[in-house]
Amino acid sequence: MDDCIFCKIARGEIPCHKVYEDNDILAFLDTNPVTRGHCLVITKEHFQNLLYVPKDLLGKAMAAAQKIAQAEVASLGAKGVNILINTNEVAGQTVMHFHIHVIPRYDSKDSLKIDFIPRQISELNLPAVASLIKKDL
Ligand code: AMP
Ligand code: ZN
Repeated sequence: MDDCIFCKIARGEIPCHKVYEDNDILAFLDTNPVTRGHCLVITKEHFQNLLYVPKDLLGKAMAAAQKIAQAEVASLGAKGVNILINTNEVAGQTVMHFHIHVIPRYDSKDSLKIDFIPRQISELNLPAVASLIKKDL
């Protein structure tokens, strides 16, 4: 993955503001932070997105995200945290290397907007949707 910006960060070829590192995982500040302390947690190995990450590494990445979230609350004074994993372009993924956003929240009226605008439940046939998902698990 020669051209992948997060692979370059993982290899130390591009600098980052590192907050956590172990053999498999790296976490650093996002350079376009939505709030103060907005971090990204990545696997050092390249996976295009969540859909391709082996579950042991996913567990390690999520454990690191939890530690960072706890530190943001303890040390930065965040009152809450959003964990966000954009997966594919339609969901807003711009860097095609798996990453978890850990976004501290200080004020519900800050610049992060995640709007859940529910559809009419009658349009959606919930039993059929549940069956379709379950059959591939
Ligand atoms: P996403 O839209 O979920 O793919 O998020 C990618 C994130 O990576 C964005 O929030 C960018 O600000 C961030 N980003 C891109 N390049 C860098 C970089 N060199 N160092 C830190 N964060 C970066
Ligand atoms: Zn990569």
